[in-house]
Amino acid sequence: MSQQKWCNCCEQLKPVTEFSLNRRDGYQTYCKDCNRAYRQTGRFPFVSPR
Ligand SMILES: [Zn+2]
Repeated sequence: MSQQKWCNCCEQLKPVTEFSLNRRDGYQTYCKDCNRAYRQTGRFPFVSPR
């Protein structure tokens, strides 16, 4: 079984393996997909349907 974590960027529940480790509180707030998009475009993708 795997833990899941809420991504504040794409607003989805994803397995923690989709998040980079963060020394301070364990995992980053944004998932790897969002961080990758941020690195490429300079902004976070907000793909929330709302
Ligand atoms: Zn995300």
